[in-house]
Amino acid sequence: MIQLFIPLNFLGFIYREIREALTNIERLFGLLGQPVKVADRADAHELEVRGGTVQFDAVSFAYDAQRPILQGVSFEIPAGHTLAIVGPSGAGKSTLARLLFRFYDVGGGAIRIDGQDLRELTQHSLRRAIGVVPQDTVLFNDSIGYNIAYGSPGASEEQIWAALRAAQLEDFVRRLPDGLQTQVGERGLKLSGGEKQRIAIARVLLKNPPILILDEATSSLDTHAERLILEALNAVSARRTTLAIAHRLSTIVHAERILVLDQGRVVEQGTHAQLLAAGGAYARLWADQQRDGA
Ligand code: ATP
Repeated sequence: MIQLFIPLNFLGFIYREIREALTNIERLFGLLGQPVKVADRADAHELEVRGGTVQFDAVSFAYDAQRPILQGVSFEIPAGHTLAIVGPSGAGKSTLARLLFRFYDVGGGAIRIDGQDLRELTQHSLRRAIGVVPQDTVLFNDSIGYNIAYGSPGASEEQIWAALRAAQLEDFVRRLPDGLQTQVGERGLKLSGGEKQRIAIARVLLKNPPILILDEATSSLDTHAERLILEALNAVSARRTTLAIAHRLSTIVHAERILVLDQGRVVEQGTHAQLLAAGGAYARLWADQQRDGA
């Protein structure tokens, strides 16, 4: 009996590990779309976060040499602050996020966190310091509690509830008959896009990384759901260095700083009011989205 039990238990463990790894990768691919293509240097060292200032310094990048995607992109996100990135489809917004997560190395220039060039760091230590809230969250066929805590072994139930509260999901989960044990995913409770995104936010709150990549929600959310998400996003980005990719300008009207990307170049920077007054690329994007009712 013991002989049978141990291997099965062990197999269950292995299965869980593999499934986690796959879903994790799938999730990141869902957001960032690309396989990992870089290797650690032999002398790579661990990222030492001292606040989490992110700096893009004259970054250029091309997926293939014939077609430059980013050209001389420079900006800094001071530790604990948020930068919203906007721009037309194909401008290179998600590419910035992929480079910060180091799915690729830059072609020219450098990306640094607290002065440390990403190419000199271990990928493990870099990714441990960065939380990602994708638009489309893939859930495990497991409980809500498991889905929130899987990146944070050792999290207490109290901590999970605190994360749910900040992610505007506490009432929703308390009303479920099985609470944290409620099964979700393909074989369980189906969650809306907004609820899934708030699960991702709770996950990141629990992981508590100093740096955050947000891929902000797009359409098809009613105003109540949208308000809950915005509140949850505010909770998760507070005091974290945040790169927020905004698809709809209405979500970033109050952002402290907005960077406008067009054809791989930074064309404008400022607050919503400043950029509207400037009457340039941002003002045109805004007018387009107002007209389309976005
Ligand atoms: P959207 O708002 O539509 O998501 P985006 O601003 O995020 O657009 P990116 O996804 O960064 O744009 O893409 C920038 C450019 O790079 C696009 O022209 C895209 O076709 C191209 N691109 C993206 N991934 C690859 C790839 N793996 N290989 C080649 N080109 C790519």
